[in-house]
Formats: sequence, C-alpha cells, structure tokens
Amino acid sequence: EKSGVKHEFQAEINQLLAIIINSLYTNKEIFLRELISNASDALNKIRFIGLTEKEALASGETYEIRIQPDKERNTLTIRDTGIGMTRNDLLNNLGTIAKSGTKAFLEKLQKSSDHSLIGQFGVGFYSAFLVADQVVVVTKNNDDKQLIWTSAADNTFTVTEDPRGDTLGRGTEIILHLKDDAKIYTDDLELRNLIGKYSEFIQHPIHLYTTSVDNKEIPDEEGQAKQDEEYEAELAKWEQSRIEKGEEVDEEEKPKPKAKKTKWEQQTTNEWKWINQARPIWTRSPSDITEADYHQFYRAISREFDNPLTYSHFSAEGGVDFKALLYVPFKAPQNLFDFGKKLANVKLYVKRVFITDAMDDLLPRYLNFVRGVVDSDDLPLNVSREILQHSKLLRKIKKKLTAKIIAMLQDLANKEKEIKRLESEGERKRPKGDKEWDEARKYTKCWKEFGKNIRLGVIEDEDNRKKLINLLRYPTTLTETDEYASLDEYVDRMKPDQEQIYFLAGESMKEVLSSPFIEKLKQSELEVLLMTDAIDEYTIQHVKEHRGKTLQNIASEEFTLPGDKEEAEKNRWEAIVKNFEPLVKFLEKNLGSSKASKVQVSKRVTNTPCVLVSPKYGISANMQKIQSSQAL
Ligand code: ADP
Ligand code: MG
Repeated sequence: EKSGVKHEFQAEINQLLAIIINSLYTNKEIFLRELISNASDALNKIRFIGLTEKEALASGETYEIRIQPDKERNTLTIRDTGIGMTRNDLLNNLGTIAKSGTKAFLEKLQKSSDHSLIGQFGVGFYSAFLVADQVVVVTKNNDDKQLIWTSAADNTFTVTEDPRGDTLGRGTEIILHLKDDAKIYTDDLELRNLIGKYSEFIQHPIHLYTTSVDNKEIPDEEGQAKQDEEYEAELAKWEQSRIEKGEEVDEEEKPKPKAKKTKWEQQTTNEWKWINQARPIWTRSPSDITEADYHQFYRAISREFDNPLTYSHFSAEGGVDFKALLYVPFKAPQNLFDFGKKLANVKLYVKRVFITDAMDDLLPRYLNFVRGVVDSDDLPLNVSREILQHSKLLRKIKKKLTAKIIAMLQDLANKEKEIKRLESEGERKRPKGDKEWDEARKYTKCWKEFGKNIRLGVIEDEDNRKKLINLLRYPTTLTETDEYASLDEYVDRMKPDQEQIYFLAGESMKEVLSSPFIEKLKQSELEVLLMTDAIDEYTIQHVKEHRGKTLQNIASEEFTLPGDKEEAEKNRWEAIVKNFEPLVKFLEKNLGSSKASKVQVSKRVTNTPCVLVSPKYGISANMQKIQSSQAL
C-alpha cells in the first residue's frame, strides 16, 4: 500500500501528550535527551544482535548519531544507524503505551497535581511534540521495507512505505518540524550545549552539523592596487631626485615596497563535528577525572538532579577482571522495596558493549539502590543473558561488588565519625541548616535513605553480616535529636557494670520515648537504642552480639536491670525463708541443741534435701573426723 494508513493513538497516549505539552513547556529542551537516548538504545540493540548474527550487520557496522539543524526549513533531524523499526514496531512503540512502567507513571501523574517533577522521568519519544508540531519518522529495520511514520499530535498518525525506497540502509531518522517558539533548536551552539548537558556520556559518537563563521584574511585587491600606485609615485619621485642630485644619493633611501595588502572576510563553513566524548568514563584513569565529571555522569545515567551521596570507581583483578563505577544516590526512589520490579540501576557492559541493565543477581537485592556501571573483559560477549545469569564469573563479580559497596558505606561512616570527633573537640562547628547537615552527616543521610536496605542485608547476607552490623545506626535516649549512634559508640559509652546493649522497639519515636520501660534506665543514665522501623526487631534477631555484648529488649518479660536483679533475689529469698519457718522450728525442737546447734534454710544445697555443716566458729566436719581418728 503506497498511501498512508491513518491510525488512532491509544487513548492513554493522547493523555500523555496533553500532560507532556502542558507541564513541560518550561523544560522543553529535554526532548533532545529523549531522542538521543532512544537512538543510543537502538544502536545498542543492533550491536548486541550483531554479536551473534553477523548478517544483521550486512547494512553496515557504523554506530553513530547525527544531528542536523536546518534554519531555512526550520527543522531538526536526528538520525541513527540503530536497529530501526518494522511496521509492527511503529504501531506498537509509537502508537501505544506498551510498557506497564509508562502506564503506571501516567496514573501517578494523573493523581498528583504536581507535574514539576515529570522532567525527571523518561517521558520518551512523545516529548518530540514539545518542540515540533509535526514529527516524521523514517525508519529501516532489517526485517521490513523503509517506512515513514508521521503525526501532528492530532490523535492520529500515519504509516507509509517510503516511496524513495531504502535510503537509510538501517536505522531511524526523526525529522522535527519545529514550532515557532522552538526555533532556537536550529542553532548549533544551543544544540551543542544541550548535548553537553544531557548526553555527553552517550556511548556512541554524536555528530552535529555545524555552521561555523570564521574570519579569514584574504588579499585585498582594491587596496593593493591603490598601494601599488602610491609606491610607483614614490619610486618615480626618488628616481627624479637621483637624477637631480647625481651620484650623492644614498641607495639605502630607495623606497621599499610595503607588505601585501590584505583584508578580513567572514567565511561560512558547514561541517559535521563530533562533539561528545564517547570514551566511557569508567575506562579512564581516576586521576584524570574530576568530581564534577563523576557527578555529571551520575546525573546522566540516573536522570537525577541531585549529585550522588558518594561513589566508587575501581578495577577488580584476580578471579575476574572488571571495572566498575558505583554510586549511592542522594535519595531513595519510591519503589525500592517492590522487588518484583526491576530497578535497572546497574548497567552491565562486556568489553564496552552494553549488554543489559536488567541483570538479576549482579547485586544482592538489598543493594538494589546502588547505581552505576560494571564492565568486564572476561565475560563472554556472544552469550545470551540467561546463560550469563548463571555464570560463575558473574557470581564472583557479585561478591566483589558487594564487598566494595559495603566498604564504600563504611568509608562514609568513618568520615562522619571523624567529623563528629572534630565537632566534639570544638575544632569544627556543629552543622547548621539542611545543606551543612547533609554535608557533615553523609552517612546518617545514607542511613535515613537506605537504612532499611542495610537492615535487610543483616538478615539476608550472612557472609557480610558482621560488616553490615557495623553500619547499623539508631537514635538513643542519650543522643541529641537527629544524631544516630552505632553499636560501637554504644558499647564505648556503656557503664562499667553494664553487660548488655539495651534497645526498645516501637512504632514511632513518640511511642518509644514515652514508654514506661525507659524511665528507670534513664534514671540510672543507662543508654537505650530506639528502634522504630518495622524490620528492626527481625534484624536484631540476627545480631546475636556485638563486641561480646548481647542485645536486650528492655520491654521483654525476662528483662531486669542489674541493680534490680539483686533486689529481686533478696525478696525471693526472704519469701522462701518465711515459707520454711514451720519446718525449721519443728526440726530445731526435735533434734535439740545437743544434736544441732542451728537449723537453717540454705542456698548451699540443690538436689540434696539437707546437709550437715560446722558452725562458723566451730571445728569443721573434716577436722572432727581427724580428731576422732587421732583419739583411737
Ligand atoms: P523508551 O525509550 O523508554 O522505551 P520511548 O517513548 O522513548 O520509550 O520510545 C518508545 C519505543 O519506540 C522504544 O522502546 C523503541 O522501541 C522505539 N523507538 C524510539 N526511538 C527509536 C529509534 N531511534 N530507533 C528504534 N526504535 C526506537
Ligand atoms: Mg526513550
């Protein structure tokens, strides 16, 4: 069929379009990020397929993105040599919201009135309509003819076979007919800035068609002719004077020709310029990378606005070689404990080729908040993701990554401890205001955001439990508001005769602080860890002891304070003595003072009902025996 077939957008798409257009108009520029990221995804897909199916690359092995503004036609074209789309792909991907993720996002967006955050989410292809009133997608996939998709965001789109035939070879070309208020996106300087801002770390070359205006020095013919004329005249004058003065004239004074006359002219050159780094940051040496670079890369891969709390860039060797760049985000995402959903936080590369960001088991699930990149030369490239999943090497990578992340957190904790020490010694001021506070209490911040994960780790990761226990933090009855204590700090502060670590669990700080259980401990200045997370008590069950001190729930039935114990014991004993008084009286009376000087309830016997002992100041039974034997 040669003429375009009209299709209706799925209802949700129309809603999405309306939301995008109404809420992102101040942040239009993100369209470029979205389209470049789609191009990059498409390149990754064909490269991945090409690893096992050589013939898929018959149409070319160049992986690149080209961006071409056209001021005259007021268009912007983004072209990639990626996988392209078949007719079905076009209908499914650019006409319906297939992914449940987008759907869920849409629902959430409809519920909340605050659309200001929408730019953080991948609003995807449809963001093209932020800047364009018509979008044309020309695409060629190996399995179909070259096709043209077009829409003017009017609830419909058309799909046509391209009458020009196959001009792309393979890939996709997106032509944006820019709206009047989006003309700025034909300006290559603006485009260059945007690519730098959002897409610098895209792993494929991005070429921008630039028009540069250079000033060039060229010969000035007109000026030159005038200058030559003047020179001729001067020369003639000199010749004349030579004739008049004869031989006395100095040859040195003969006028010399002046430098060639030139002028400056503006020259316009059009050329493709490769503008992104495209050398993966994690393959570079840490000494060449600034903190700002690391932060920028994080923002690029995470689409977060905040910088990360901390990061670690390292190479692992022995057993399995890989490079990794890992980040702890500043804030926890909302779906952190929806383990059924993949967070796609750590991207796996093999020899710089992107393999997947949905690898189960690259990290234990409690570390699902960590973001970053892992790149190994040791994993097989031409192997399915499923096989990779069970690879021994992958297990080794997981183990090393886990250890590294725990070390990274511990490092953050150590730094915070040092800061607190300086504060307590008056060498540093206590933080004021949110910003200073986050800076001086990075680990506490981390605990507030990801403490649940660490608690879960204590439960689930037996191998690393001891290290994870060191990362636990709790407010206590003795710390100031907003300060948290580690078990180590607690043990260091324990009273000399205190043998256990006391804790109290409840639903809220208000509840635990008003608990009658802590009143008495407060009086004796005994510190109590306060636990208010639902998972805390489960976690504590796995913390048998810390530095030889067991953990004791002060709300538990069997709990008594050390002082309390003696008093309770005294009372119990008095009750026993009182109970046996009749028996004692009976025995004293019947035995008489000749056979027993005293009858007493005693703690000395356990199983035997009674025992004969010597009086305190009398001779012992043993001595009595010896005496009687001597008497023989
Ligand atoms: P997402 O990228 O999150 O999947 P988008 O709305 O950005 O969502 O894109 C929707 C789908 O359209 C993509 O998943 C992909 O299948 C397809 N697509 C978009 N752009 C391209 C492209 N340049 N090449 C190939 N397929 C593309
Ligand atoms: Mg996308």
